[in-house]
Parts: sequence; C-alpha cells; structure tokens
Amino acid sequence: MIPSERFFLIAHAADFPEPDAPRFRRDLALEVRNGKITGLLRPEQVPPDIPAMDLRPAWIMPGFVDLHTHPVQHRVRGRAGLPLLPWLERYVFPEEKRFEDLSYAEIVFREAFARMLGHGTTLVAGLLSAHPDVLDVAFEVVKETGLRAILGWVWMEEPEDFARPVEEMISFARRQIAFWHGREDRFFFAVAPRFALSCSPGCLAAAGNLAREEGVFVHTHISENPDEIREVLRRFHASSYSEVYDRAGLLTDRTFLAHGVYLWARELDLVRERRSVVVHCPTANDFLHSGRLPRQSLRARGIRTALGSDVGAGWTFNMLHVIRHAYLVEREPLHRLFYDATRGGALAASMDRLGLVESGFFADFVVLRGGEGTEEELLSLWVFEEERSPVVGVMVNGRWLAHEAAV
Ligand SMILES: [Zn+2]
Repeated sequence: MIPSERFFLIAHAADFPEPDAPRFRRDLALEVRNGKITGLLRPEQVPPDIPAMDLRPAWIMPGFVDLHTHPVQHRVRGRAGLPLLPWLERYVFPEEKRFEDLSYAEIVFREAFARMLGHGTTLVAGLLSAHPDVLDVAFEVVKETGLRAILGWVWMEEPEDFARPVEEMISFARRQIAFWHGREDRFFFAVAPRFALSCSPGCLAAAGNLAREEGVFVHTHISENPDEIREVLRRFHASSYSEVYDRAGLLTDRTFLAHGVYLWARELDLVRERRSVVVHCPTANDFLHSGRLPRQSLRARGIRTALGSDVGAGWTFNMLHVIRHAYLVEREPLHRLFYDATRGGALAASMDRLGLVESGFFADFVVLRGGEGTEEELLSLWVFEEERSPVVGVMVNGRWLAHEAAV
C-alpha cells in the first residue's frame, strides 16, 4: 500500500484503444495523483522523492467492465437443468424474495462485490431484487468495497409477491437518484424493468419516462429465449420484443439490453438507431441453453455491444472466464474480447475516462501476472490458465482494493 496521494506504478501495460488495435507497452512508469493517471514516463524518469512501486514482471490493464449481472443471485449460481422461465420460478424468485431481509442482503452483497473485485472487475452494472431499499444497502457495500457500480432494483408487477404500485416505485427511484446518481463518479442508478413479462405497458412507460426525465441508465433483458418472446408478443400485441420497449421509451443510448439472442434484423436496425447496448452473456446463454448471440454480425452492423457475466445463469463473476467462453462460442480474436471487457465496456456505459492506460483517465487497473511468450500469447495465458488466477492486484481510483494475498 502506498499512502501518498501522488505515486508511481512501474509495470508493463496492455490496453485496447480500438477493437482491433491492442497496445502493449513495456516498462512504463505511471504517475497517479488523486485517483487519476496524470503522466506516463520511463522508469528512469521517476523523481527519486516520489514513492514508486515496481510491479514488473506483472502487467497493468484497465479494470474489467461487467455490464450485466445479478449480485442477488450470487448464492444460486450454477443451478443446472432448467430453461429460463422454469429456472426463474424454481431458483431465482425464491432466492430474491429473501432480500426482503436487508441484513441478508448485506451479507450477500459483501460476498458478491468482493468476489467481483477479486477477479479484477472495477465497473459493474448489476440488477438487484424487486425491493427498492436493497439499493441503498448495495451502494453502502459498494462504497466500502471500492468499485464503481451502476445498480437498479428490478421493477416487477408479477409474480404477485413482488408487486408494488408504480407510483411507489417512481417515488423511491427519484429519491435514490437524487441521493446516489453520479456521486463521486462511482455510483449510478439504473431504471430496471426486469423484462417485459414482469411489467404492464403502463409500468414500462413509467420506467421509460423516469429514465428520460432523470437522464439515468436503463437496464433490462431482451429476447433471451423463444418461449419468452412468444409470450411477450402475445401479451403486448406487438410485432417484436424491441417494439415493446421502444413504445415505452426504454431504448436509449444509456440502455443495457442483456442477451438479445433472437433479435430480428429490423429490431437490430432499431437498436442501432437508438444507440442502445446489447450485452453479450455467453456463459449464461449456454448454461440455460437459451441460444447463441451472433455477436460478430451485431458488431458488423454497427451495434454497440459489451460483455456480461449474468450471474446466476452465468456461474462466475470472473470476466476472464466470460472472455474464455465468448471465444469458444465464436472464436473472435482474444484482443477484441479484451477490448469489450475494458474500453468497449466503458464506452458502452458512456464513461469515456475509463478503460485506457492514458493520462487523464481514472486509475482503475487490474494487475496480471507476467509470463513467457509474445504479447498475444500472454492474453491466452491469462484467459486459459487453469491452476491459479492471473490477477495479482486491483486498483480503483488510485486505491489498492485487492492484493495478491487476498485474491
Ligand atoms: Zn440477467
């Protein structure tokens, strides 16, 4: 731990300014001041009176961005055997019901956020249970844990045990937005209708209005499973799933749409026009046998995409494992997946000062063990190494939050 407000980190650095332009720089001295990178020097240029920590042969990389997960499902990860809708009924809803008890919520949030951080995630977009006051508990834990988070409790009018009048949801949300949203560049609020089937058209429209008026994020699921889509089209008398959200004003440039496996061609055009983000959740899609997102074709169409761990259908918060799984699904070059998990994720969340090792950017890093081989081979090593985690340190805002001993 370096106590000073100004210090240097000496390391190799890997970052990904563009999807196909990975950048590997050896022997950099990063000046960090008040939580930001303020200079990039050669190690021999570091002034002798300023504290410096030499991390070599380790590599610094921008911290991982996970744009779709459920901290509340941490304890029911990996419950195999069912497709989406019965899986929700059997495992997820009963577990989320337990979050009525805020002391239980606090315990699970501590476990979940510590786990994410230990794996190198420094910015997460998470959905909570349908209890609005869990958000305050979650943000208090985030505050202590130290990462950045975009959180929302899910809006649900059914099943009935979760139902809450729309006016009540709106007034809760307004209070929380006023208190938390944008605070310290670390706490952000998302309006989060769980998915179309949990809400009426009136509830979705209210959520859309609120997001527009307050300028906050929208976080939801879309087109994950064919049975779900059929039921949405029937219930909303709509010609497509995305039309249901668009009518409600929920497709914005700050909207995260998890899955999108079955979005049709004209829906993709609509999502592109609205500049919404499709969050690719490869582990969860395969776990529930929902289907596979043709992500490269989305990218080719100019749609904004990002990666999500989607715990608990995804069985791990570890973004290196999500990258691994995305690679197995489509064999995209690893550097492109690292882009998605760092700079691409930051841009998808409209946070342009995150995700690069550059002067003026926040000092949010994951530190990865060094190794033999070319730089592209190192990416493979970090993704496919089985025996031990390559993560040896995590820093957010210039503060060490996890060290080798703890991860
Ligand atoms: Zn999800």
